[in-house]
Amino acid sequence: MTRRIGLFGGSFDPVHVAHLALARAALAQLALDELRWVPAGQAWQKTRAMTPAVHREAMLRLAIADEPRWRLERCELQRSGPSYTVDTVRELQAAEPGASWFLVIGQDQYAGLHTWHRFDELLRLVTLAVALRPGAAAEADPRVRAAPLLRIELPPMAVSATAIRARVAAGEGIAGLVPPAVADYIYRHRLYRSAPGS
Ligand code: ATP
Repeated sequence: MTRRIGLFGGSFDPVHVAHLALARAALAQLALDELRWVPAGQAWQKTRAMTPAVHREAMLRLAIADEPRWRLERCELQRSGPSYTVDTVRELQAAEPGASWFLVIGQDQYAGLHTWHRFDELLRLVTLAVALRPGAAAEADPRVRAAPLLRIELPPMAVSATAIRARVAAGEGIAGLVPPAVADYIYRHRLYRSAPGS
């Protein structure tokens, strides 16, 4: 049987409950054999300096430890320079020929996918699986809409890493927004203490 592998990329700064809900829904609804979480080494579209990879990776490990079909994929952390999804997919597909690959993204990413590096090539390599995200632009570019698309049903969750960082910087609680072990990690390492956006 063809192995079905999902790829779920992001800065995960920090990983939060909407990521986990989306990843759980993807496993079930796409009948995946595994879902690989792909933390970005250097997100080329984000201007904000990301938290060092060692922390983002440690938080992800804490968050995904209990689900055996979730795996951490470190390839973008190991690459220097910008992380392009198309390069990641090519690298992983070369290592595992014959699998079916699904690119799991939220709707905000879908709406901007035509701005991704070599997006047309990327769309030929993977099947897109898109989850609704509150506040995201509804429509994608026609060139992206032409590609086959699977929908991931997910109750709308107005959670973002940006809002979580802002809450920590403002001294507000984040219980329920990240798993307890991730909240502990954030406090222990004094992450996100400075002003939002920094
Ligand atoms: P930031 O606020 O720092 O931009 P983020 O919360 O959007 O971060 P990312 O790590 O950039 O988190 O997102 C990784 C993936 O998860 C993206 O495909 C994004 O669309 C999706 N995602 C994040 N939050 C949600 C949400 N609340 N609902 C649906 N999808 C989401």
